[in-house]
This record gives sequence, C-alpha cells and structure tokens, in this order.
Amino acid sequence: MDLIEVVPGLSLIPGENNGRFPFSHSFLVEGTTRVLIDAGCGERVVDALQQAYPIDFVISSHCHPDHTALNWKFAGQPLYAPQYGVETFGNFDLLGPRFAGAGSTVGEWRKFVTSQMNFKTALPTHTYGDGHVFDFGKISLVAVHTPGHTVDHFCFFEPNHSILLSFDIDLTAFGPWYGHPESDIDAFEASIRKVMALNPRVIVSSHKGIIADDIPGRLQRYLDVFASRDRLLLDLLPKAKTLNDLVNLSPFYQGHPYAAPLLRYWEEQMIRKHVERLAARGQWSVNSEQ
Ligand SMILES: [Zn+2]
Repeated sequence: MDLIEVVPGLSLIPGENNGRFPFSHSFLVEGTTRVLIDAGCGERVVDALQQAYPIDFVISSHCHPDHTALNWKFAGQPLYAPQYGVETFGNFDLLGPRFAGAGSTVGEWRKFVTSQMNFKTALPTHTYGDGHVFDFGKISLVAVHTPGHTVDHFCFFEPNHSILLSFDIDLTAFGPWYGHPESDIDAFEASIRKVMALNPRVIVSSHKGIIADDIPGRLQRYLDVFASRDRLLLDLLPKAKTLNDLVNLSPFYQGHPYAAPLLRYWEEQMIRKHVERLAARGQWSVNSEQ
C-alpha cells in the first residue's frame, strides 16, 4: 500500500476511488503509538494497512460513514469519537434517522452504507472535545471543533508544522456539504473562518488530499460558495412553486444518478436551509407551500 508522507510521522492513506465519496482518505500517525485517523478509505486499503501497519487505536474526525464505515475492523482497540452527538456515533440503527430523516429514506440509507461501504456498528470507547490535544511525540494534533457539515465535525491542527487536517472542509469543486437536519450554514461559515484564522501552511482534506498552494484564496472561494448558492436559488425560486420543484431542478447536485431518494433528501435539506436563510434576511418571502 502506498502512503504519502505529509511530514515525517504523518502520512496520507489514499482512499479508494481517489478518496471520492463514498470513500475518503485516511491518515496514519506514527510516533509513540501508531494511530489511524478515519476508516472510510475502502476495505482493500484497510486490509492492506492492517497487514503492514498494525494500529494501536483509531480516531474519527466525525460520524459520517465515508469516514467511519470500517471502524468495526478495529474492534477491541480504542476508538476516539467527537463528544458531540456521540449518542448515535457508529450506531447503524440510530444513524439512519439522524442522516436520512424518517420513512423509506432511512431504509435507502441503510442499504447504501451497507452495500457501498460495508458499514457496520462500531461504538466509541473514548470521546474528545474542542481543544483536545493528541500528543504523539513529534506530531501533536489539536482538535478544532468545526460544526456545520455535521454537529460533530472536527479539524486537527498540527501546530509545529502548521498543517491542518481539514477532513470535510474539503476544498473540493463541489463546495461545502450540509445535507442533514443538524447541518447549519451559519455554523459552517464560522468554521471556515476559524480555519482561515489558523492560517495553515498546508491543508490535507479527506476528499482532495494535500493542498499547499493558495490556501487563503481556496478557503475564501470555498466560503463564497454559500453566497453563490443563495444567488442561484434566488434566480430559481420564481420558477418553482414548491420545494419539490426546486429539488427536481437539482441546482447543487446537478442530478441524482444513484440512490436517488437519498440524494434528493440531502439536496432538499441544503435547499431548505438556503431558503430559510434568505427568508430570515428578508431576501425572499416564504409562501405557504411546504
Ligand atoms: Zn462528512
């Protein structure tokens, strides 16, 4: 298996499908202990990793299955999870309603994470909160709570090297993702600003990998996506009678090519948050439909 060294003691573990959803990149820290950060890089990668680099414990950046699906492969070893929302973390039965609302969409979610990620229940043994320091000797990681994507999303900042593991503040062309009831645009914006204030020299994200150039510009453009989505919806709103019409137009996803009920549900959540925000600002008056 091919690790990509970020700095000595900290490596990127490339995920299957180049870390694109439903996979993500993972990280390996080798210091006083050997630690895996996130376990959604694909079964082939995790199996090879366990052969070559026996892991002492696992840390999860947040609860999403594309980061946690294979935590069960490390059963018996410590698993650190964010303290926020820990009641449902890693729990196949409880995460469905959290991520996919109610009704048949939950079944769709369960089918998807089982068939595409081999997600199985794996409950945390430890929790961490904002400011927690994972000290591995040469490498230390400060947990920075960055909610918005989910309530429990964290980034990890390595202060000696000024490296930020940004996970799903991922700097992809798609932009920020906030498709759950618990997701929050204002919190997400604040989290991106928090990351900007750290002024990292290098960012390594879960779906884009190592980024070392134009970091302030990339973060600003990522932040600007919220406002451009506001404008996009303001253009579309007069053409749509209902929320369902907007989902059909698929302004953010540009289509729902697989697991359509699930993707539609997530896109609806994102649209709804923008519409509510625009209404709260007086930029759009919500009518009685939906
Ligand atoms: Zn995520």
